[in-house]
Amino acid sequence: MTHRRTHKPADEFKKIAAEQMEHLLRSAEETFKQRPELADRYVRLAWRLKTRYNLKLPLALRRKFCRKCLSFWKPGASCRVRVQSGCVIITCLRCGRVSRLPYKPKRKTSKRTGKC
Ligand SMILES: [Zn+2]
Repeated sequence: MTHRRTHKPADEFKKIAAEQMEHLLRSAEETFKQRPELADRYVRLAWRLKTRYNLKLPLALRRKFCRKCLSFWKPGASCRVRVQSGCVIITCLRCGRVSRLPYKPKRKTSKRTGKC
């Protein structure tokens, strides 16, 4: 079928899904102190939304959990955070994955495109 719809309801779903995803990750942060296993569950749900709707994950949220083992990251508790020349290096204490993220997402550098 080659019908192309101009109005895409999928976009609406996507918007709602993105909001839900952010909400879940915020809830995970709040819950982590009391029930870390529940926080991990929120992360999994958020991740499912992300993959299902092909959502873009804001940089601030990328630092919130491990994309390998999907555990919520709490500096000092479930991950180790180091800042190195404009990058945040996060080591997951559960699976050992090391993630490098740009420190300041809003600042655009022409030479380097957000790479660490
Ligand atoms: Zn991990």
